[in-house]
Amino acid sequence: MMSKVKSSETVKVVIRCRPLNRKEEAASAGVTRTPGGVGGIVEMDMRLGQVVLWNPHGPPGEPRKTFTFDSVYDPSSKQRDLYDETVRPLIDSVLDGFNGTIFAYGQTGTGKTYTMQGVWLEPERRGVIPNAFEHVFTQISRSSADRQYLVRASYLEIYREEIRDLLDPNMHLRESPESGVYVRDLTSCVCKSVKEIQELMNLGNQVRSVGATDMNEHSSRSHTLFLITVECSLPGPDGRQHIRVGRLNLVDLAGSERQAKTGVHGERLKEAAKINLSLSALGNVISALADGRSGHVPYRDSKLTRLLQDSLGGNAKTVMVATLGPAPQHYEETLTTLRYANRAK
Ligand code: ADP
Ligand code: MG
Repeated sequence: MMSKVKSSETVKVVIRCRPLNRKEEAASAGVTRTPGGVGGIVEMDMRLGQVVLWNPHGPPGEPRKTFTFDSVYDPSSKQRDLYDETVRPLIDSVLDGFNGTIFAYGQTGTGKTYTMQGVWLEPERRGVIPNAFEHVFTQISRSSADRQYLVRASYLEIYREEIRDLLDPNMHLRESPESGVYVRDLTSCVCKSVKEIQELMNLGNQVRSVGATDMNEHSSRSHTLFLITVECSLPGPDGRQHIRVGRLNLVDLAGSERQAKTGVHGERLKEAAKINLSLSALGNVISALADGRSGHVPYRDSKLTRLLQDSLGGNAKTVMVATLGPAPQHYEETLTTLRYANRAK
């Protein structure tokens, strides 16, 4: 067997399991309780980076499934743990002029948005996005006087394989058959503080909710992308000012759950197929990058991967956070998420 050339520097895959919620707690009482005390069917060893999944329907003695990742975060882990260990190095490299992308992948209700955004006003519960910006603006304020920074943000969503610019909903993004989406057509706004970034996000969220009859359903079916460029003008060895640009993409993916086989017809079914297609296209791209098969990376198979093409591969860093819940009733979906993440690493 050929050994896999793993570029752990470029692609990191981590798992995060949220706690059982109250309803699940009641439903799974007495069913299974893992030795770690987590409850439910997921057991994690943070030191070894291992996840063990129990099959609640399996015969007694059936082997449990064990997976190993770059890091795993159990339900007791804090927002800050994930940020410091997994995200911060990527943000530092963006400040150094490299590109980086963070994806949250998982079934609806498992903590993608909690991980990416969390609760902005509660320092303990702030997610990746506010923590990243806090860090960016702190580093900028500490940088030497001969460096000048410009931070710009864009906010968009991909819904039914169509891109919507959330900072200017009337903007129509063009696409070239050869090179993909024209990212330069996207609205980008200069931000000078965490507060301004947050305001921009609130603005985009309002646009997002217009026309959506059921916002929960809408968010579980669309990918949201928050794109940041950090431009730095600094003196080069020749004494002249040089411009260095790092790009950071923060992606809250559509829910990975398989759509119910019954009761879904027409438009809804087509929509579901598009989500599955774009998530599997993303899995193929990340898996190709992690394998070091940079020659055949199938970027062209979805809007999402076309749009992010310049920030995936090469010197760019990618973090995939796969989220899951420990409830027995989601065994199949949880297994599917673990398999997807396992393939990506
Ligand atoms: P998703 O975006 O994947 O659909 P959410 O982020 O909306 O899921 O999370 C669903 C619910 O679970 C929310 O009420 C959220 O606050 C809660 N939750 C998710 N992850 C955690 C966690 N790690 N710790 C505590 N609560 C969490
Ligand atoms: Mg969400």
